[in-house]
Amino acid sequence: MEPLNRPAVIVADMLVDFITGALANPPSQEAIEPIARLLAGARERGWTVCYVNDAHLPGDPEERLWGPHAMAGTPGAQVIPELAPQPGDVQFAKRWYSGFHETGLDMYLRAQGADAVILVGQHAHICVQHTAGDAFISGYRVVLATDGISAFTPEDKADGVAYMETMYGAESATVDEILAA
Ligand code: ZN
Repeated sequence: MEPLNRPAVIVADMLVDFITGALANPPSQEAIEPIARLLAGARERGWTVCYVNDAHLPGDPEERLWGPHAMAGTPGAQVIPELAPQPGDVQFAKRWYSGFHETGLDMYLRAQGADAVILVGQHAHICVQHTAGDAFISGYRVVLATDGISAFTPEDKADGVAYMETMYGAESATVDEILAA
């Protein structure tokens, strides 16, 4: 892949409710170690690290589809301990799929001088895809660390990745490839 200039890592919804809680997704366990490796490498390199975390309020539109999950202030809305944010990382609370929607993420990324986002987390075809779409229309290069991205099924993951590649020009790579770029 082309060398990265000023990337920011965006971790989507690696929350207790999304791993083992209300919306438990067993395949997401496999993404934990690659994400941890990416975050360690990113912090070493001084890359911006952001988390975009569901923090829902009662009556949010998504509740009709998914039921209550990651309700603001509950244990289920916490980032899992294995990927706990470190000093210097920033967490953004979101109430919709996209990490950019009414969160202030774009303003923060611009202040950091970021020109690319490296996306990990879940789900490939839902929150990651919507976040990638907003990153694209906001002018960022979109990179998918595919071993750090999960979905309920391999088909959903493949569909989400293919859509982001086609529609947002997303570049897919492994965590190791990204850290070597
Ligand atoms: Zn949600």
